[in-house]
Amino acid sequence: MTRADRVAALVAEQELDALLIAHPVNVRYVTGFTGSNGLALVGEGRRVFVTDFRYVEQAADQVPGFDRLRGERDLIDALVAAIPEGQQRIGFDAAHVSVQEHGRLRAALPDRVELVPAAGLIERLRAVKEAHELEPIRAAAALADAVLGTVVERGLVGRSERAVAIDLEHELRLAGAEGPSFSSIVASAEHGALPHAEPRDVAIPAGTLVTIDMGARVDGYCSDCTRTFATGPLRAELASAYAVVLDAQQTALAAVAAGRSARETDAIARDIIAAAGHGEHYGHGLGHGVGLDIHEAPTLGQRSDDTLAAGNVVTIEPGIYLPGVGGVRIEDLVVVTADGHQVLSGFAKSLLTVG
Ligand code: ZN
Ligand code: ZN
Repeated sequence: MTRADRVAALVAEQELDALLIAHPVNVRYVTGFTGSNGLALVGEGRRVFVTDFRYVEQAADQVPGFDRLRGERDLIDALVAAIPEGQQRIGFDAAHVSVQEHGRLRAALPDRVELVPAAGLIERLRAVKEAHELEPIRAAAALADAVLGTVVERGLVGRSERAVAIDLEHELRLAGAEGPSFSSIVASAEHGALPHAEPRDVAIPAGTLVTIDMGARVDGYCSDCTRTFATGPLRAELASAYAVVLDAQQTALAAVAAGRSARETDAIARDIIAAAGHGEHYGHGLGHGVGLDIHEAPTLGQRSDDTLAAGNVVTIEPGIYLPGVGGVRIEDLVVVTADGHQVLSGFAKSLLTVG
């Protein structure tokens, strides 16, 4: 069964005639098309793909099995011509279509076409990786591990957070990544108390913690890994925060298996952090799915209704953030398997002191 076949089955289940796929990552997932301007319409017995003249040849190569149409830069008009006669219920990915785009779409479509919000259908498929999708994710994780080692060996103290972040991204490209999977985070001392800190033009001091959160992109797929380093002897508060996060991370990681609820997995780490008196210093979820997007389904958090399934690739990344003092986060990338899990991040997790 091709991905388009599986989409068609979900479309039928939703009592839709077809799904309009416009979000580039979803277009890529369903059709194989890697260009920047493509639309697909998938339903029972219907596989339509539209792109503009720049990508006609690329699409002939990448999108076999679809009726390929050539549109203008705005592809909607060509797609309208491919919609069959009669009343049609067409789903669109409401999570990725702006109000403005929806308005244009509505104006372009005949009245007999009902546009039905249908968010998350393809995301549901993307959450469960096929075996061959694990290869680039594995490669991206290994590449990021190696680059982190190379950059950290050059030392941290006295370099600016920004310089370290640029070094990471430069080395990722040299090592063969398409690029970073997101803008690298390098956050030292009190800045480390911000989970999504922007690297600053500030020299990293000795005797504190530095959180480095980074990933590589290989063949479109992302990796994601965080390690926190010491830059010399630490005050007791930071050393103990590290020990608590490491315990929480390893305990939650050990529990990752198909069939376990995401909320329950989140609670394992959260309870350990709360028991150490840091409940209020941990404000984000335990982790997220990773694939063609750096953040995708499933979600591991207190409000998640997801259940881990074999083929999910998720992060396990608890943290403690002490305002004005510093922060710790430790993040591994892991594949959920039928009987447990396989960790893709290989970088050591014991506290490493880097001068
Ligand atoms: Zn991360
Ligand atoms: Zn992450």
